[in-house]
Amino acid sequence: MRIVLLGAPGSGKGTQAKLLEEKLNIPHVSTGDLFRAAIANKTPLGLAAKEVMDRGDLVADEITLGMLKERITQADASNGFILDGFPRNLAQAEMLETLFKELDMALDHALLIQVDPDEVVARIAKRAEIEGRTDDTEEVVRNRLNVYAEQTAPVADYYKKQDIVTEILGKGSIEDVQARIQAILRF
Ligand code: ADP
Repeated sequence: MRIVLLGAPGSGKGTQAKLLEEKLNIPHVSTGDLFRAAIANKTPLGLAAKEVMDRGDLVADEITLGMLKERITQADASNGFILDGFPRNLAQAEMLETLFKELDMALDHALLIQVDPDEVVARIAKRAEIEGRTDDTEEVVRNRLNVYAEQTAPVADYYKKQDIVTEILGKGSIEDVQARIQAILRF
């Protein structure tokens, strides 16, 4: 099964993806995590991405796509994967469609996790205390939310037109949200 998770920063995509990974036994592929690993390993990709990420802006599409392709063509992803953080703009959504055609793959579900903006800001503030991510400062979070509204929200409309998107209420406990997702995926 191939799933795309959509939702604002702090909407809980990563948390839900990890639970799905265990349930479905397919990898959680987070472009944010892949970039953070590249930064930690000081690879050329990481060095290129760090400055952009620290501003809360998006890394160049071609760079991100190359990294994603490398990941989803690995053996453990042959039965499917859960994409978190990609596609993040319309160009990436189109690139993903082209890549899927090239690899003879299809997308089964796009799940849009809906959370109130106030809740998202509160969750990220809490995460900033725990994880200390350099892009979780108040000013950068504001920019990430703007980038989401301007560039990523249209991706949901793109999938809506294909009739492949399901909205999930992101309120309540982690288990509540997971139960809603599992009900949609029927397992
Ligand atoms: P969140 O979901 O909380 O916004 P992520 O960990 O998914 O955070 O992403 C953090 C940062 O990594 C983004 O702000 C962006 O700079 C970069 N990034 C992640 N995915 C992409 C992508 N698909 N295209 C461009 N940049 C990306």
